[in-house]
Amino acid sequence: MTSVPSTSGSAAPTVGPTDRSQALFERAREVTPGGVNSPVRAFNAVGGTPRFIASAQGAWLTDVDGNEYVDLIGSWGPMLLGHAHPEVVAAVQAAVARGTSYGTPTEGEVALVEEIIDRTPVEKVRLVSSGTEATMSAIRLARGFTGRDVVVKFSGCYHGHLDALLASAGSGLTTFSIPGTPGVPESSTALTLVLPYNDRAAVEAVFAEHGDRIACLITEAAPGNMGVVPPEPGFNAFLAETCRRHGALFISDEVMTGFRVSASGQWGTDGAVEGWRPDLTTFGKVMGGGLPAAAFGGRADVMSALAPDGPVYQAGTLSGNPIATAAGLTTLRLATPEVYDHLGAVADTIRSAVTDAFAAAGVPHVIQSTGSMFSVFLADEPVRDFAGASRTDTAAYGAFFHAMLDRGVHLPPSAFEAWFVSAAHDDRAVQTVLDALPAAADAAAVSTGSTSKEGG
Ligand SMILES: *Cc1c(COP(=O)(O)O)cnc(C)c1O
Repeated sequence: MTSVPSTSGSAAPTVGPTDRSQALFERAREVTPGGVNSPVRAFNAVGGTPRFIASAQGAWLTDVDGNEYVDLIGSWGPMLLGHAHPEVVAAVQAAVARGTSYGTPTEGEVALVEEIIDRTPVEKVRLVSSGTEATMSAIRLARGFTGRDVVVKFSGCYHGHLDALLASAGSGLTTFSIPGTPGVPESSTALTLVLPYNDRAAVEAVFAEHGDRIACLITEAAPGNMGVVPPEPGFNAFLAETCRRHGALFISDEVMTGFRVSASGQWGTDGAVEGWRPDLTTFGKVMGGGLPAAAFGGRADVMSALAPDGPVYQAGTLSGNPIATAAGLTTLRLATPEVYDHLGAVADTIRSAVTDAFAAAGVPHVIQSTGSMFSVFLADEPVRDFAGASRTDTAAYGAFFHAMLDRGVHLPPSAFEAWFVSAAHDDRAVQTVLDALPAAADAAAVSTGSTSKEGG
């Protein structure tokens, strides 16, 4: 996808009735909290009815009413190759036919781990089934390895829903944090310190005060869960070096960025160039190819503290599941340099069309990226931390989102999420996005009350 398709005028809505989604949503809400099995799917941030999907192929989702949408959610990251890639489907079908789970080791697990080690700075890997499990296990391992208890994280970085990391910053920079949700006891977050992202002084201050108690610092390699907020140049290297000086482990969470931002994730764009490695890295999303597979890995001496080699316990009935392993391994093997080039070209085309549409509509906006992963903030200035992300115009995003959805483009239903493109986003899919943008930007302009035609 390198050609820039021609821009046509504002497209009229194309999506038809959504009665079946509406009916299913009502049925679902009777039996499942909010009608969904993960909160963001409920559309609470943008209003309206989530679309129940019947099938997906390539870049396209088809809902239960037969409407088609260009998919820019990509299952929140995993679908690097697009939906139902024939080779992934074939690998999964072949694996299913050999049995679904054994509870004994398989060759596929070895091959997947070798593939991960080939691409990333890790020396040994343990497979698990979700990103949450990966970060939870990495933190336990860091605590067990260092014999220390304190964990440092950044506000706005999401690492899954484990208790210790569902924490909000306390009142002062160096106070311990408070639970970010009911159901998490204070004792679970009492050893977690939450700092503003991209803030070197805050990091230096907590390490100066608590350095000898800090087991690890965990960060998204490039945050994507408050919208995309890239690390400022040298920030990850600074974190790695600060941890090293204080005998703490640096955990880079690449669950979202891994095998997405580059063949070797965000690390491929900073650590590999600058010459440093995290002590531990967590993976998920792309490496499962749309099935439940995730992993954590890192320094061999640290990983060897894990059972059965070492004393730190960690286990899983379905860890290294043969079907998930087949999907993940096939996905990674198909994630060639050409795929990353294509993702970059598609992202470039969409980003520049977004800028053109918002500029024409007079809506202040900022596009932030790492690799092909990007998000659009309706804001006047770049966002460097969670406080900045929180100041953006989420109501206008809702209007924009629905105008896009009505024109057959399914964005993430929240202003604080990354947009994901895939290898299957071809000219027709990209053109559909481009056609929808002008009217959607106008809808956002109405919502912001902006009338200027000169905004950027
Ligand atoms: C998605 C995500 C997780 C959690 O992964 P799950 O598979 O949803 O448990 C952890 N860290 C980051 C950076 C993520 O984006």
